[in-house]
Amino acid sequence: MEKQKRGLLPYLFLFTLTYFALGFVSIVFANLAIFCVATPFVLLSVSKKKLWCQHYCPRASLLNQVGRKKPWSKSPLLIRTGRARTIMLWYFGLNLLFIIGSTTRIALGKMEPFAFIRLFIFIPLFPLPQLIHLNLSPVLLHLSYRFYSMMLSSTILAAVLARIYRPRIWCAMCPVGTLSNTLLK
Ligand code: SF4
Repeated sequence: MEKQKRGLLPYLFLFTLTYFALGFVSIVFANLAIFCVATPFVLLSVSKKKLWCQHYCPRASLLNQVGRKKPWSKSPLLIRTGRARTIMLWYFGLNLLFIIGSTTRIALGKMEPFAFIRLFIFIPLFPLPQLIHLNLSPVLLHLSYRFYSMMLSSTILAAVLARIYRPRIWCAMCPVGTLSNTLLK
């Protein structure tokens, strides 16, 4: 059984790729990000270990694939000093605040939904072509694009760092990993 589980781990990155591909089927699938964020903490509370980070994280699996090249480079000072971790925590906190605030305004009819991808909060791109056209409410449409944008932004950043430095350098600044460490303490 253990052997079987280990055998699947190198392929977990397919979940990440599937997540982004599903956005082209219908953007509503982007809300699966809620499970991606919640599952590590559920596992942590049950096992008192970072099971997700150690065994099941699809993003870590993707980064192992992306950052295969060697030799790996020394981590930048920003990461070695832990400052990047703090910056990412603030970035995710602000991102979540923005998502909650903008979604509330849309629900109150004070704002139109942003029905397009926006990288790193500030870089507007385009709406995704949709294989299935669902009649989503403005709130759900906005929320779906915001989650997709958040996941895409962090995956791009993590992949670029993996190529430049080493595969899982992102884990040194990942907010899920940081919060998991804090909870374990
Ligand atoms: S630190 Fe983040 S990216 Fe790394 S394994 Fe944990 S959840 Fe995945």
